[in-house]
Amino acid sequence: MRPRRGMLDAMDCLFCKIVAETIPSKKLYDDADVYAFADIDPKAPFHALIVPKEHIESLADAAANHKSILGHMHLTAAELARTHGLNNGYRVVINTGADGGQTVSHLHLHLMGGRPMHWPPG
Ligand code: C5P
Repeated sequence: MRPRRGMLDAMDCLFCKIVAETIPSKKLYDDADVYAFADIDPKAPFHALIVPKEHIESLADAAANHKSILGHMHLTAAELARTHGLNNGYRVVINTGADGGQTVSHLHLHLMGGRPMHWPPG
């Protein structure tokens, strides 16, 4: 049987390979559904990426059956913020699509902290 389109996307996906640990990352959290790692090019003193293990291309591709994983990603961000001492606040961001600045086509939540953030973002 030939792989379906979604499977092909996942096989070729950088973050799927990081989740599978075939590409190394600085792992910060791992459970059955979610993986978090340090961003390779941090935009803040603390910058983590929280990704679902399931290959979902972007927030625009999330559906009703992803409600639980979307909540889980956010609660993981809050827990990582607590355990990494971001007691003065932090920012979570999901860049979505070309205008949103998304460069990796696997849904990911940025958690940034350790410095004051500016508003509005660029
Ligand atoms: O929101 P966006 O898609 O632009 O975010 C992708 C993020 O993935 C970037 O912050 C980039 O530094 C990070 N990245 C990474 N490891 C890689 C490739 C990209 O942490 N090998």
